[in-house]
Amino acid sequence: MTAVAAATRPAPSEPQAAEGPGPEVKEVKIEDKLYLNRWLADEESHLIVMDQGICLTRCGESHSYACTIFCPASVYKFEGNMISVMYEGCLECGACRLGCPYRNIEWHFPRGGYGVTYKFG
Ligand code: SF4
Ligand code: SF4
Repeated sequence: MTAVAAATRPAPSEPQAAEGPGPEVKEVKIEDKLYLNRWLADEESHLIVMDQGICLTRCGESHSYACTIFCPASVYKFEGNMISVMYEGCLECGACRLGCPYRNIEWHFPRGGYGVTYKFG
C-alpha cells in the first residue's frame, strides 16, 4: 500500500536557482533599535537587588555577576563594589527574574503609565 502511494506521488520539483542578488538586507544595530523606544521613568525603582552581599561573596566568583551580562539594556553594572541598577532603561523583558542564579532580584512591572513604550520601525 505504501509503495503504491509512493509510486503515484508526483516527483518533487527541482529547486530553482535564485535569479539575481535578491533583496538587499540592511544591517541594523541593537543600539539603533533601542533608540526608537521611549521611557517614562518612575521615581521608584521596580527592580531591587535584595542582598548585595550575595552578589559580592557568591555571584561574582561563580557567575561573573550574571545580571551585568544577560540584561539586554545594561541596567545592571558592577560599580564601587556593588551592583547598581539603572532601572530607568529597563525593557521589561523579565530576564532578570529567571537569570539571577540566586533569585536575588525583586522584579515587578513599573506602575501604570511608567516604563518603556516600544516603537517598531
Ligand atoms: S545576578 Fe543576582 S546575585 Fe548575581 S550580581 Fe546580579 S543580582 Fe547579584
Ligand atoms: S527586565 Fe530585562 S531589561 Fe529589565 S532589568 Fe531585567 S533583564 Fe534588564
